[in-house]
Amino acid sequence: MAGSIEIVEVSPRDGLQNEAVLVSTEAKVELVNRAIAAGLRRIEVTSFVNPKRVPQMADAEVVLSALPKDKGVSYIGLALNGRGFDRALAAGASEVNYVLVASDTFSNRNNGAPTLDTLTGWAEVAAAARAAKIPTSITIGAAFGCPFEGEVPVERVVEIAKRAAEHGTDEIALADTIGVGSPADVVERFTAVAKALPGMRLRAHFHNTRNTGIANAYAAITAGVTVLDSSLGGVGGCPFAPAATGNIPTEDLIYMLNRMKVETGVDLATAIEGAKWLEGVLGRQNPAMLGRAGIFPPVPKVA
Ligand code: MG
Repeated sequence: MAGSIEIVEVSPRDGLQNEAVLVSTEAKVELVNRAIAAGLRRIEVTSFVNPKRVPQMADAEVVLSALPKDKGVSYIGLALNGRGFDRALAAGASEVNYVLVASDTFSNRNNGAPTLDTLTGWAEVAAAARAAKIPTSITIGAAFGCPFEGEVPVERVVEIAKRAAEHGTDEIALADTIGVGSPADVVERFTAVAKALPGMRLRAHFHNTRNTGIANAYAAITAGVTVLDSSLGGVGGCPFAPAATGNIPTEDLIYMLNRMKVETGVDLATAIEGAKWLEGVLGRQNPAMLGRAGIFPPVPKVA
């Protein structure tokens, strides 16, 4: 098992994109700064998508321009096509996460085209990213199941990963967008992708829709995944997936990893504080559990 795991904090993007009420740009910037204060060093800060379709991300450029550039933090911008990539590049994103969706029906709804068509778009973006020397990752959404088509065959996920990798990328993530996977699915799918793409850095993106998220994170680590997405407070969802709920909570994940002696570089107390602050912004309780239960063993109060 890996001695350290890299956490990608996705609350500013996946955590907020489904919020009906617009979160202010100031609050988004503060959320990123609180994540940085907790020790998170890769943060998906926004998505460069059509603001008419995802109004919450309409301030992508403004958010990115307001973030500190001297903290050694990699700011990830999400893109679904060449236009999104161009915007992310122009706005100064440190890296771009390009999203493909494993099933055609969901891909049509999320990306506006079937999967293979979006792979053509990726080929162009990959070439442009190489020319611009900007790191990229690929996220394959609905890699564990589709809200419209049901089961997604493992072979299809592997095929998409292989085709995406042909154009060159630094990392591939499998995303359980609707939170249907089990630990056995996680091990099976990541093992299959790792076998097809030896040496590829693998990242896992889980939603806790059916309470399997943390178990899946553990399974992913046992399968050789070294990067995990999570969101402070466990906030999140997807505007194009019915009944989608939050990402696995950063603080609950870190708690487990700390107890397993797996390094993350994240300070738990500061992460919990950030998540509590986010509850105030969103006006409701977070799904995360650690903030309510408390860290164990208890951290002594300093007088
Ligand atoms: Mg997601």
